[in-house]
Amino acid sequence: MLKVAKFGGTSVANAQQVHKVMDIVRADSSRRIIVVSAPGKRHPADRKITDMLIDCANAAWAGGSAEAEIAAVAERFGEIAAAFDGTGDVAAEVAEDLRRRIAGPRDDRGRFTDTLKAAGEDHCARLVAKIFTREGIPARYVNPVEAGFLLSSEPGNAQVLESSYDRLEALRDISERVIFPGFFGGTSEGTIATLPRGGSDTTGAVLAAAVKADEYENFTDVDSVYAVDPAIYPEAPPIPLLTYREMRELSYAGFNVFQDEAIVPAVRAGIPIRIRNTNRPEAPGTRITAERPYVTGEVAGIAGSEGFCTIFVDKYLMNREIGFGRRLLQILEEEGLPYEHQPSGIDSLSTILRADRLTPEKEAKIISRVHAELKPDDVVVERGLALIMLVGEGMRYTVGLAARATRALAKAGVNIEMINQGSSEISIMFGVKDADRRRAMIALAEEFFPKRKRSRGRARPRSGE
Ligand code: ASP
Repeated sequence: MLKVAKFGGTSVANAQQVHKVMDIVRADSSRRIIVVSAPGKRHPADRKITDMLIDCANAAWAGGSAEAEIAAVAERFGEIAAAFDGTGDVAAEVAEDLRRRIAGPRDDRGRFTDTLKAAGEDHCARLVAKIFTREGIPARYVNPVEAGFLLSSEPGNAQVLESSYDRLEALRDISERVIFPGFFGGTSEGTIATLPRGGSDTTGAVLAAAVKADEYENFTDVDSVYAVDPAIYPEAPPIPLLTYREMRELSYAGFNVFQDEAIVPAVRAGIPIRIRNTNRPEAPGTRITAERPYVTGEVAGIAGSEGFCTIFVDKYLMNREIGFGRRLLQILEEEGLPYEHQPSGIDSLSTILRADRLTPEKEAKIISRVHAELKPDDVVVERGLALIMLVGEGMRYTVGLAARATRALAKAGVNIEMINQGSSEISIMFGVKDADRRRAMIALAEEFFPKRKRSRGRARPRSGE
């Protein structure tokens, strides 16, 4: 049995948290590959090391000394190290390394910043390996660049290259626990690049796929995934089992447990994922797999997200006009805009986009092009749309589920702007006004997850990572 365990920023935020990580790793000898984030927030008002390192890079790039920023980062690592014997002068080592990174090449600002951002995960992994070994868990720090974790050279937004997988497979053969920093890797030009923010989840998923792990454990600061964001509906039940498809749909519509694309490598390799709480490792967490048993008619989760808009085009006899939809999408394509959904009527077509992509300039251009090229009766852009999704494998072939949902929304006085049943049939999507999103989600939650007495403590959405 081989597990890859990833610990997020709050799990390594201070010495007390590192103790918990150590206990978790000690408790299961199959947890052999450990991925760590940079230390995150110790309390809500705190700062993440990654953000502090970005400040440091900005100060240095502007020509300042960055000594204050260096000292702040070094102090955080020093504070963790000081709680364990024999770790040496970690603060001084970190400060010296940051100065070395700052003195490095400055041909590109993105690359320069990435070199500094990577230091958070890198020092965290070095320190954790040192602490583990001192505390009787033989551990080896592995450098991602040397191990062949290869990324494309897009600073701050790198993609994992396929060639990484074969080389990383060798991590299986290391007899000590492997402590691998998340978030960064090396490029084919020999530079350091970082994944998008939150990228340690991706590192964990890639390693899990590369070593063909039996499970990818993602340790964070919530007990599990909840059926509805507990900040909106505290009575939401925990979800013990989800499929990859359900997770994808829920994350798309606003679940913030995983960064949407982070788990793709593990999903492709069919590796079960388990979300667990570092602060309560005894909680079973949520397991995400390709298939799961389900009850017909059951909704697994409800998610909602603001920030969408609709381009509504109306033209009498649109249904008879060949190529209308294609020409509309072609305009969007030529303007560089991805679209999200496209519900249609006989004579109308709504195209839903992310509102931040449709700038006022683009909006004006698209409206005038649609008028000129498609000669519609009307084109209207409506902003302030939220999407709410009901998701569940059990929703397939279920009669009356949409009726229950619409009745609940009607009772709450929420006007439905749009309904779309995903072709996968495991989701139904409602478009409502941003201002109605919360009320709509509560109404749906009360319908599908009625309040009842529970013994567990109130959960918080994940905060500090
Ligand atoms: N430390 C990085 C961030 O804050 C990556 C991560 O934690 O996954 O985004």
